[in-house]
Amino acid sequence: MDKEQWTAIINRDRSYDGKFFYGLKTTKKFCRPHCPKQSYNPRRIVIFASVEEAARSGYLPCSRCHPDLPDWTDAKTELARSAEAYIRAHYAEKFSLSTLAEAMHVDKAYLARSFKSVKGVTLLDFCNHVRCEYAREMLTHPELSISYISSTVGYVSASHFSQVFRKEWGCTPSEYRENFFRSLELSGA
Ligand SMILES: [Zn+2]
Repeated sequence: MDKEQWTAIINRDRSYDGKFFYGLKTTKKFCRPHCPKQSYNPRRIVIFASVEEAARSGYLPCSRCHPDLPDWTDAKTELARSAEAYIRAHYAEKFSLSTLAEAMHVDKAYLARSFKSVKGVTLLDFCNHVRCEYAREMLTHPELSISYISSTVGYVSASHFSQVFRKEWGCTPSEYRENFFRSLELSGA
């Protein structure tokens, strides 16, 4: 094992998936570089260039990262990706965790946990983030009122929207708008 491979393993680096595999001498299982399952002791690790090589050495594929299935992405990653796509498609509507879980056909606690573990943020924070991104764009159009923007990005109350926006961007929507147009004037646009 070289230093680059070791770094990929300890960082669980997905960009190395498929480039090499590693086996654990103690369990006789082999994994993709990103596998979150293992505890690491470099002396117990053996590197394989291919699935065939691992199999020839008597190692079995790990049941978590499925090195034997080339197109397999783990279930949580897949779920988080669909939830993200759902939020981006439905950000303008009012929806709850239950609505989202129903649409994904999964348990809502499982969905919430999976999303947090893959994306590092809660579903609610992510949803607010997406809504505020769209709102920020709309704020640069002076003809759109703030209450119009607020309801367009899925908030029931403009004051709630304002609160969330301030948390995301560090200023209220109207301050954001003022700053935006002031910076245009200053740049002579
Ligand atoms: Zn694994």
